[in-house]
Amino acid sequence: MKRHVVILGAGFGGLELAARLSETASDAVHVTVLDRNDAFFFGFAKLDVMLGRQSAQDVRLPYRDIAKDGVEFRQETVVGIDPVARRVKTDIGAHDADFLVVAMGADYDMAATPGFEEGGHEYYTLAGAERLRDALSDFTGGRVLVSVLGQPFKCPPAPFEGSFLLHEHFTETGIRDAVHMATTFPMQRPVPVTGEVSQMFRDALATRGIEERSQQLVTSLDPAARVARLASGETLAYDLFVGIPVHRAPEPLAASGLAVDGWVPVDQTNLRTRFPHVYALGDVCKGPRMVPKAGIFAESAARVVAADIAAEISGADPPPPYEGSGICYAEFGGGLVGKVEVNFLLGESVAAERHEPSRAFAAEKDEFGATRRARWFGS
Ligand SMILES: Cc1cc2nc3c(=O)[nH]c(=O)nc-3n(C[C@H](O)[C@H](O)[C@H](O)COP(=O)(O)OP(=O)(O)OC[C@H]3O[C@@H](n4cnc5c(N)ncnc54)[C@H](O)[C@@H]3O)c2cc1C
Repeated sequence: MKRHVVILGAGFGGLELAARLSETASDAVHVTVLDRNDAFFFGFAKLDVMLGRQSAQDVRLPYRDIAKDGVEFRQETVVGIDPVARRVKTDIGAHDADFLVVAMGADYDMAATPGFEEGGHEYYTLAGAERLRDALSDFTGGRVLVSVLGQPFKCPPAPFEGSFLLHEHFTETGIRDAVHMATTFPMQRPVPVTGEVSQMFRDALATRGIEERSQQLVTSLDPAARVARLASGETLAYDLFVGIPVHRAPEPLAASGLAVDGWVPVDQTNLRTRFPHVYALGDVCKGPRMVPKAGIFAESAARVVAADIAAEISGADPPPPYEGSGICYAEFGGGLVGKVEVNFLLGESVAAERHEPSRAFAAEKDEFGATRRARWFGS
């Protein structure tokens, strides 16, 4: 009899897991994928929406297009999880799983930064990217502050990509001289994967005239006075505030006992949680060693989970351990994309190779998106 795999969340990790299981184990499993939304969109597509290069409609990939043998998609919101019974409650009904995989990503806690919802902008949601696009079209100059409001956050380069692309936008619209740009973040340095990788972003901020304020955390905004307050007690004036919101695990995970201290702890070799036959992968999980929240790592974790489930069912040897490896592309503006090949778990320390921004990597990044689209949605 086929085993039932229930995947909670059809994002980067959930989609790759469904595709993998369909390709490698469709004789042994049937898969139900649940998501509260009716469409997927790549995180990086939000940058295009922010700049008005693509509409929100353009970047939507509807789940009804998923065409994988043995995979059923259902648009339902998960409201409760019993990880012992492997039973999931949704707004519509309930699902019982032989194998349960939590791939629900990270949500945002906008209210964690008082004043942010009223007085700030963000491009980490599609709706936020649309609002920022509209605000940019009215913006004629002043102080622009791009601030990381908490850690951990998705995609370590994304706050800096935002700054580079805003710089490009202000240059193209002829107002760059009338704009003062600064970025604050709680880390010691931008994208602190390795010193070399960080330097690539540091240099790019400097050459674009973007003031870098490391180890500074904005804790609240005063929208009326247009002032950001820092943890240090200092204040910074702004005319346009763009924040990377505080992240948190989706609602039902803490109440279910899966999330502990914010995120779902896993054995990083195989992404198993402490509950038998319950896995967690991607942005929602954490392990003893740091692996950043990014689609590429969710995707490579999904491959390990697919292989581990197949091995459990067949009684074969477990697959090689998760390496936390992948390729990250980062937009530097002007059609240039940088590339970092990185491995977080294989050796004693992080190994990363950086490649300077180029148009060739921009083409590679397009190809990266196109192959996932074709693989998951058949288009
Ligand atoms: C601006 C920006 C740029 C980025 N650029 C890159 C990049 O270039 N490369 C890269 O690798 N990563 C990038 N990322 C990060 C990437 O988008 C995420 O890290 C990745 O999507 C995580 O995959 P995941 O499967 O863990 O979660 P997600 O892809 O977020 O999927 C989680 C899914 O779970 C669903 N869900 C959550 N709660 C519930 C619920 N209660 N019921 C039902 N469904 C639920 C959500 O709707 C969602 O579809 C970027 C992110 C942003 C914001």
